[in-house]
Amino acid sequence: MSSPKQLETFRLSLQTTVGELQAEISVPTSFIPISDIVPLMRSLGEQALAMEEDHNRLAGHQISCHKGCAACCRMLVPVSPPEAFALQRNIEQLPVPLREKILTRLSSVKKTLEQSGLLGKLVQISETRSQLSDEDMEPVNQAYYAQRLPCVFLEDEVCSIYEFRPAACRELLVTSPKELCQDIAQNPVVPLSAPFRIATVLSLMWAELTKGPAKLIPLPVALDWADRHAKENQSTQTGESLLKMGLDKILGFLRQNS
Ligand code: SF4
Repeated sequence: MSSPKQLETFRLSLQTTVGELQAEISVPTSFIPISDIVPLMRSLGEQALAMEEDHNRLAGHQISCHKGCAACCRMLVPVSPPEAFALQRNIEQLPVPLREKILTRLSSVKKTLEQSGLLGKLVQISETRSQLSDEDMEPVNQAYYAQRLPCVFLEDEVCSIYEFRPAACRELLVTSPKELCQDIAQNPVVPLSAPFRIATVLSLMWAELTKGPAKLIPLPVALDWADRHAKENQSTQTGESLLKMGLDKILGFLRQNS
């Protein structure tokens, strides 16, 4: 039996545009791969987003998103490299029937993307050595959304991996009427602004560790990317140093938005 990991606890206080985020978080004292810090970073992002939601509610703007509405699960989801590794591990641990269903759907989505000429582009994005801007991604996002492909993790319009869905999915909430989400390319949807974006934070951490670009990997090719780059997730850091690096990136976001 493996011995439980030793943890070190820190109290955080982050000043965001919607108030002070206080949190007590524990990280392993041992050396861990960056994918192990993903749940912790996502939970910090969710706490910040909950503050933003409260702020909007007080201003009279309700969140329209609810269980069973998966209109936005037809968009191209960007996944940070550490999340791609974490997702791969999460999927390996799913019950076999669900895992097989997901992998079958994934292979059919990839076939459709190949036929429409988008698969190669998504793989190219996942392997790029240059920084891609939102403007660079816009035509690809539009072309992907035009196909209205349901995410491979959707089961009866509910996310089957809700507990470990990517940060980008957690952060996409809207205050505009839910009917508008039926066609986000045409309708003026109003997304909630997040104090900081955890997928970007994790992507910047990965860039610092690998001395590469801060990339975001399209979800349909994230598992293949994680397979090809498995060795890179073998490099480890102490939990504390990964936490510090993550907080440094979050502070960068907060400074920009202040
Ligand atoms: S991972 Fe879940 S929440 Fe995200 S797009 Fe897919 S089904 Fe929707």
